[in-house]
Amino acid sequence: MSDTTDTADGVDDADADDAGSGASPAEPADPLLSIEGLEAGYETGQVLFGVDLAVGDGELVSLLGRNGAGKTTTLRAVAGADVPRVLGGDVRLAGSSLVGLPAYEIAAQGVAFVPEDRRCFPRLSIEENVRVAINHARDPMSAEAVFDFFPELAKMRTKDARNTSGGEQQMIAIARALAANPRVMLLDEPFEGLAPYIVRRIEDLIAEINAEQGITVLMVEQNVAAAMAVADRHYVLDEGRIVAQVTTQQLREDAELRQSYLGV
Ligand code: ATP
Repeated sequence: MSDTTDTADGVDDADADDAGSGASPAEPADPLLSIEGLEAGYETGQVLFGVDLAVGDGELVSLLGRNGAGKTTTLRAVAGADVPRVLGGDVRLAGSSLVGLPAYEIAAQGVAFVPEDRRCFPRLSIEENVRVAINHARDPMSAEAVFDFFPELAKMRTKDARNTSGGEQQMIAIARALAANPRVMLLDEPFEGLAPYIVRRIEDLIAEINAEQGITVLMVEQNVAAAMAVADRHYVLDEGRIVAQVTTQQLREDAELRQSYLGV
């Protein structure tokens, strides 16, 4: 959006000049994914204490926070992973609650989760990894359409996943999620442990999947620079609570926010 937007009345133009104004960016009125007052935890104790977050259809949003803030717990609660246990609040996809549904049903409704550990099948080839995902999806993409996003994987599709690099494994994991043609993709620290040039490639890939395939993305990150490179809006999580919701420009300019909650 242009920074030079003319407003009809010349006032109340926070959107046109929101950097530094302190005003939070508008959350979508009719979100595709909404997390409402989510409380969740493990046998060892509660970790999320009322997380509120909304992602509009087609948005690319990041959830930032330090180690242990509860980012992964949030994504796992959305995806219906066995742990953590949801203790209260709601998670809605296009208005329908996902809480209590098994993970496979949440996936079938259009939520794809790319976990931090990437979880490829090591002894299957790259193409077999993608085909397994296609075979398990309700309304999948074709393998060729998936590989169009990943020319580097297409060239080595018969290679076993275990013989690929960390960056290639991240691509396989994203390819498997994409194969299901989801409405929402949840990415848990997609840049972790990757060399800078691969980080840039994965940034581009996530942006392409969002823009070209129209897939809504919620990504969890500690790499603030990479999150700012791709996401438009950011939530900051600290000790299981959302403490800020900012645009990329606001995050770039708010050194205190970054130092207090993100350590950068
Ligand atoms: P990180 O980047 O370290 O993964 P995070 O923000 O994703 O940080 P979580 O992984 O959600 O944080 O962890 C939040 C808290 O929940 C931490 O105190 C962690 O020790 C705890 N926790 C995470 N997984 C489990 C589990 N399976 N059992 C018990 N406690 C857990």
